[in-house]
Amino acid sequence: MKTFTSAGELQQVLREEKSNHKSIGYVATMGYLHEGHATLMEKARKENDIVVLSIFVNPLQFGPNEDFDTYPRDLERDENVAANAGVDYLFYPTVQEMYGEEPSVKVVVQSRTDCLCGRQRPGHFDGVATVLTKFFNIILPDRAYFGKKDAQQVAVIDGLIKDFNFPIQLVAVDTVREEDGLAKSSRNVYLTEGERKEAKELYQSLLRAKEAIASGLMNTATVTSLVKEHIGAHTQGVIDYVEVYQYPELKPQEMLSGNIIIALAVKFKHARLIDNITINVK
Ligand code: AMP
Repeated sequence: MKTFTSAGELQQVLREEKSNHKSIGYVATMGYLHEGHATLMEKARKENDIVVLSIFVNPLQFGPNEDFDTYPRDLERDENVAANAGVDYLFYPTVQEMYGEEPSVKVVVQSRTDCLCGRQRPGHFDGVATVLTKFFNIILPDRAYFGKKDAQQVAVIDGLIKDFNFPIQLVAVDTVREEDGLAKSSRNVYLTEGERKEAKELYQSLLRAKEAIASGLMNTATVTSLVKEHIGAHTQGVIDYVEVYQYPELKPQEMLSGNIIIALAVKFKHARLIDNITINVK
């Protein structure tokens, strides 16, 4: 595995790979890699000749009171995980390398962002779309791999790829979980021991809703209340949102039908956790 900090140098190497008709799979991350990330890399490894991983904590997608400064970082550890997962090229740029002195253009996402994390984190998805536009242009991947844990992000990237005509196949990968069901996340390290025990209840609340829907519950508001009640009863976390939409359109509906997403965000003392499940309601 070779690590690059210069976009130009990586571009040059990847153009050469392309001219030799190599397919490129790309995984974008903010680092502090865990099994969820590794699953994306391993899938990219199976489906492409070359695997590129980026690690970049993107300041553009963090709000002023969010955890940009304290986001966990550990390059040496990440290099090991990446090499073991079969990554060929690791791109690890500085903020200066990505944005220079003062960027003159940014991407603004117009739909699928007035709910969930888009509503709670204004500008977040503009930052995601801007950095990915840059990464897509630098790397020119054939396939890009993203986790369904960030389901709204997948919906936004789907729009970005289509609207900007990127010749990239978006591959959405199932959420990888701890044994007790907690979705793996770089931010889990910031949970206290007590919070970590409670955090499994987030997924339990989603499963409870899924069961209720399977036994005939069709009212969106009731499903939402059920999830909120479960989280309230079993954790000290503060609910940021629990919302139910059609997926991937992220349109509200009073009565559930078709592909739906139940998504939540809960704030613990030093970590805001998100999770979701998608269900096909017949
Ligand atoms: P992040 O480093 O949090 O920006 O995540 C980088 C990529 O890994 C995104 O596409 C995430 O959706 C994906 N990812 C993060 N956690 C998981 C997980 N537990 N299972 C599957 N994919 C994940």
